[in-house]
Amino acid sequence: MHDVLKRLGIDEETYGAAGAGGFYPTAGPLITSTNPTTGEALAKVRLGRRDDYDRVITEAHDAFLRWRMLPAPKRGEIVRQMGEALREHKDDLGALISLEVGKIRSEGLGEVQESIDMAELAVGMSRQLYGLSMHSERPQHRMYEQWHPLGVVGVITAFNFPNAVWAWNAMVALIAGDSVVWKPSLKAPLTAIATHKICDQVLQDAGFGGVLGLIIGEDKVVGDALIRDRRLPLISATGSTRMGRHVSAVVASRLGRCLLELGGNNAVIVHRDADLDLAIRGVAFGACGTAGQRCTSTRRLFLHQDIAEAFVDRLVAAYNTLPIGDPLDEGTLVGPLIDQDAVTMYERAIASIKEQGGEILCGGQRVDRPGHFVKPTLVRAPLDLPMAKEETFAPILYVFTYDDLDRAIAAQNDVDQGLSSAIFTDSFRAAETFLSHAGSDCGIANVNIGTSGAEIGGAFGGEKDTGGGREAGSDSWKAYMRRQTCTLNWGSELPLAQGVSFDV
Ligand code: NAD
Repeated sequence: MHDVLKRLGIDEETYGAAGAGGFYPTAGPLITSTNPTTGEALAKVRLGRRDDYDRVITEAHDAFLRWRMLPAPKRGEIVRQMGEALREHKDDLGALISLEVGKIRSEGLGEVQESIDMAELAVGMSRQLYGLSMHSERPQHRMYEQWHPLGVVGVITAFNFPNAVWAWNAMVALIAGDSVVWKPSLKAPLTAIATHKICDQVLQDAGFGGVLGLIIGEDKVVGDALIRDRRLPLISATGSTRMGRHVSAVVASRLGRCLLELGGNNAVIVHRDADLDLAIRGVAFGACGTAGQRCTSTRRLFLHQDIAEAFVDRLVAAYNTLPIGDPLDEGTLVGPLIDQDAVTMYERAIASIKEQGGEILCGGQRVDRPGHFVKPTLVRAPLDLPMAKEETFAPILYVFTYDDLDRAIAAQNDVDQGLSSAIFTDSFRAAETFLSHAGSDCGIANVNIGTSGAEIGGAFGGEKDTGGGREAGSDSWKAYMRRQTCTLNWGSELPLAQGVSFDV
């Protein structure tokens, strides 16, 4: 067994549910988490069942009733300690992310850093849960808005950010006064267990066990229970659009709230006046970083015809020298896909691309070594290539050529998803056109930066089939609270609004 796992307190067989007293024995099916780089088993997890789900939610609700009464800045102080605890374990947790989902070392560490940053951001937010005050139309009246905690928030996370997506939600929900029950991906259960252990210990020490709950189980058992449960006023779900469509329909049918962070199909436009050195680096990282398994990965590239040929040549040269290998080896830039299913999807996508008339410029095959490795792939594509409208969660980049910027922006927007977008240009006019109301329709629009690698200070999320949710910074905390409008009458009359009279 890996020392990293031992140091993080993970046994060879571990339980998949944690409530007020921490982890407890579960009796569901046993799954094995494997290393996508080598295929070796890392550890086994005994899944939670329906009764475990109920126990975790009940305990989270009981804990919520006490947690919400703690002043927000005091909750912030506890979240600050969680950030410190994550910092202490950053090295091991980062390595576990590399082992379990195949991120290269700097990305594994970067993900934990993102969670630490989220904790620090949330500490500040805990003193800034502002409501507005309004002038009442009635004399001797005061009107204002205040924000209250919501309750138990259900957090469903995707495999590709097995630590940070939880933190985007949990750190903010916690300072908002909510308790949080996490249902992680079955593809990355160990990172969830380790993350939960580290952060939950801080809450246990503060006397607030149960504020964080964890339930690892099958979608049809615990996933389904979570989204149907009226005790959960908010479900935050990160993952595929297919999953989000289902989750949002179920949650809407009980008039619950959803916060959705779904698939992307992100594009970069490289204009004729772009700094091509910057653009090459931005595109290569965006398309090949995390082996193309980020929601914000660059999947489509629009090149101005004046620079297209030279740019493609440089990109092919860069692709051909990308170090692919063990993500924990120094120098590796591209690790494996998460599992065999992902490799099969990649291979099917390549076959469809060829059938549809796309030209493979480089890549297009598995890498001949153990593990789930594929070659980053460049495809020269006609504008109407059907595969380019889909999110294939792998390093496949479609390259198009354009002559008119407005048409390139329209083509960029002509997909169902609306997460991230970027333009490389030194032209003020081109940049502002891209950022204007008639420009990019995505939740994220960057200039001279690629599509992936967002900072947590901004609100993160996207439009259309990406689900419309916003998490992390800015005023995203509002999603985790309920707004109350309060009007106080400090006079001795009872005037009614809009001049209505009703004297009895
Ligand atoms: P996925 O949709 O297969 O699974 C995501 C999560 O949803 C998992 O925890 C899964 O168990 C759960 N789930 C699936 N069906 C469910 C159901 N019926 N009820 C309850 N829970 C259910 O996605 P994935 O393969 O883990 O992740 C990749 C996808 O996530 C990509 O589409 C990517 O773009 C997206 N993603 C989006 C963001 C974002 O912020 N927009 C971030 C990360 C990943």
